[in-house]
Amino acid sequence: MHHFHYKNNQLYCENVPVAEITARTGTPLYLYSRATLRRHFQAFDTGFSDIDHLTCFAVKACSNVAILQQFATMGAGADIVSGGELFRALKAGIDPKKIIYSGVGKTEAEIREALFADILLFNVESPQELDRLQKLAAELGTTAPVSFRINPDVDPKTHAYISTGLAKNKFGIPVDEALEEYVRAHGMDNIEILGVSCHIGSQLTEIDPFLEALNKVKAFIGRLQDRGITIRYLDLGGGLGITYNDEEPPPPQAYAEALIKEIQGMDCTLILEPGRVIVGNAGILLTEVQYTKVNSGGAKEKRFVIVDAAMNDLTRPTLYGAYHEIQPARQTDAPLQVVDVVGPICETGDFLARDRELPRMRQGDLLAIMSCGAYGFTMSSNYNSRPRAAEVLVDGDEVHVIRRREDYDDLIRGEALLKLP
Ligand SMILES: *Cc1c(COP(=O)(O)O)cnc(C)c1O
Repeated sequence: MHHFHYKNNQLYCENVPVAEITARTGTPLYLYSRATLRRHFQAFDTGFSDIDHLTCFAVKACSNVAILQQFATMGAGADIVSGGELFRALKAGIDPKKIIYSGVGKTEAEIREALFADILLFNVESPQELDRLQKLAAELGTTAPVSFRINPDVDPKTHAYISTGLAKNKFGIPVDEALEEYVRAHGMDNIEILGVSCHIGSQLTEIDPFLEALNKVKAFIGRLQDRGITIRYLDLGGGLGITYNDEEPPPPQAYAEALIKEIQGMDCTLILEPGRVIVGNAGILLTEVQYTKVNSGGAKEKRFVIVDAAMNDLTRPTLYGAYHEIQPARQTDAPLQVVDVVGPICETGDFLARDRELPRMRQGDLLAIMSCGAYGFTMSSNYNSRPRAAEVLVDGDEVHVIRRREDYDDLIRGEALLKLP
């Protein structure tokens, strides 16, 4: 459920026609609906209201400070994976005691920043990281609160690049090794063991892999208790999927009910790290048709719609072969054509949709690429020296620019010409 809909054949975001916004801001444009962001966070979070829990939004899915600020006002924590994300989360007003830090490659500088900020938890992903945490916490005269991210070896049944909980993936620590690490951490002066965590992948469309992982974590917590180690936080990660095309992921309510049933009676706080399910359908990417052309050289005629957004703006189709629905900003009864929607970048991989049926497009037409709120802007780049798109948030009748469009000076900020004789 989201707040992008047609009225009098015009695509609206909440109460504003999207074409009215792009007339002012230009394209390509990331456009978010505040009502949708609110609604999705609330739907997810209230699913768990019967139990002690903390919803830590996965910042990497959508990291604009205005959007993080919206979640902060609703009591959200943050799941971060870098020092930059810590900076953003704090700027947005997220309580440091609701911040958890995941990721396999935390640097010394990043760990110091997070210790200094006094975050809730480090999700430790290797024995060497534990040693580094102990050393840095001792140097700063403090203790590092930790969870180990265990790798439960569960198949999330999603795209290989976003599967993270299989033994062959780089993430987490295998269960048996993790047990030794907990015992080792237990004996360290500057480490405080608080939790167990796992995160098995992204865009999951079934509940079973979550339950399988949860049961492995539960069994593991039992083994820890046998060794006198008690756990206050059980972090089940993120990963709940959304509908891009014809996927039928469980609604957050069903997901919550299934998890709650399994952890009832356990004496710990459940941490969740949702990203995509909160923001995915709350944002779209608007782009203008530049050219249409037909290449008829091959066996089959091929039609292209060339737009002003590209793989640098939205990488998911190129990287994962991901499907994004495309809707014209103005509905017409033009005949349908099968086209590839492509960008101007000099790569054959630069496409936003392939073999897609769309009403015949003309130069200047505006298209909405749907479900771009998660891993859209955050994965964008300046490839081909393309300034990054603006980001706009609609709130009812109001339109807020939450990130101005980059200009050419932004492109070379920090670069330096050689001093020639
Ligand atoms: C990416 C990530 C998430 C969020 O995943 P979604 O599929 O967007 O919900 C949560 N936790 C960790 C550790 C992650 O790396």
